[in-house]
Amino acid sequence: MVLPVEKALEIVLASAPRLPSEDVPLDEAVGRVLAEDVASDVDMPPFDRSAMDGFAVRAEDVAGAPVVLPVAGLLRAGQYPEASLPAGQALQIMTGAPVPPGATAVQQVERTRSVDGGSRVEVLVPVAAGANIARRGSEVRAGDVVLRAGETIDPAAVAVLAAVGKGRIRVGRRPVVAVLTTGDELVGVDEKPGPGRIRNSNGPTLLARARWAGAMARSLGVVPDETGKIAAAVEEGLRADVLVVSGGVSEGVYDLVEGVFARFGVEVAFDKVALKPGAPLVFGRRGDTLVFGLPGNPVSAQVTFDLFVRAALLRMQGARVTSRPTLEAELLGPVRNRSGRQAHVPARVRYEGGRLVADPIRSMGSADVVAHSRANALLVIAADRVEMLPGERVPARPLGNFLERDGAS
Ligand code: AMP
Ligand code: MG
Repeated sequence: MVLPVEKALEIVLASAPRLPSEDVPLDEAVGRVLAEDVASDVDMPPFDRSAMDGFAVRAEDVAGAPVVLPVAGLLRAGQYPEASLPAGQALQIMTGAPVPPGATAVQQVERTRSVDGGSRVEVLVPVAAGANIARRGSEVRAGDVVLRAGETIDPAAVAVLAAVGKGRIRVGRRPVVAVLTTGDELVGVDEKPGPGRIRNSNGPTLLARARWAGAMARSLGVVPDETGKIAAAVEEGLRADVLVVSGGVSEGVYDLVEGVFARFGVEVAFDKVALKPGAPLVFGRRGDTLVFGLPGNPVSAQVTFDLFVRAALLRMQGARVTSRPTLEAELLGPVRNRSGRQAHVPARVRYEGGRLVADPIRSMGSADVVAHSRANALLVIAADRVEMLPGERVPARPLGNFLERDGAS
């Protein structure tokens, strides 16, 4: 059965079981998915806080500035004012220090002049009531939810967790992903391929992609196209949360993977998707284990992982957002799609003159890992579009490297 991409993705997401949550310490939380709403236990700021180095005053006392006021003392961050500011006086105050009761503004030090060795201060210009004071609770009130379940913890969220006193955080468990690579022709990274052989590039990139999506990835190694050897490895892989097999799912004589899945009782939901690159794509489930048979073609394997396996891994961790948003860009060069399937074409997408433009990358096809590595987005060409021309608006799916690449060719 050949499924449209969107339908296939729906099936994968609906089949992905939500993994149980676990507690992690704050310094291991980055990249994990929150399994709880997090509320602040404090007001932020927790007190009326000076936003400047300067002098706390009553605004009305300096309305007629320049004026000279006696300096009542000095308050720095970490101290707490014992008394309120007497009328007609100024208190020297540092950034981050609590503003004493009675003071209604802070005049920044640059707008003052020290008089009599600092015992008095000349406030050179008036300051409006409220100026340079961050009011208690103006950012967040105690009890406010500051992070929501389903959000991925990024470094900015780490700052929030620290600020609200969350030393341990409830997050979705990381899925265990087993990656099995099949193919008689494959040799290892450290080997020089002999005649007819190629290096196994899928195994390493799929492990990397699984880790990039927050999973714990384990390699089941490379097996030749022999049913017995594939079966032994698949049996082991079915103990993981997700089994990803590369290669052996097309119509060739040595494409044996689907048969092995059937032997182990994998319930296959689909085995073809109307996508180029990547048409053969087996997805099924056995118990709580998700099973993917990805095409061996190196670009197809990566594109299908990024679209389907990544989404499943994020969903299993409880992520609310499981796919990147699609952008719209203006095509700079022509693209063709004679496949009759939705095509994903590698491109460099960037801002130019205030618009988002897409520069298609010359690729020799679904084995061209080098062209794929130069892309920061894939242009989505509809199944019925044989050709798209420069100037047309095209949907662009950002890749995981999108924000780190500048899009320059
Ligand atoms: P298959 O899906 O097994 O028919 O493989 C399709 C194409 O991808 C063939 O040209 C294979 O040599 C190639 N291929 C399969 N597995 C890998 C791999 N692990 N690394 C690099 N290329 C591969
Ligand atoms: Mg093969």
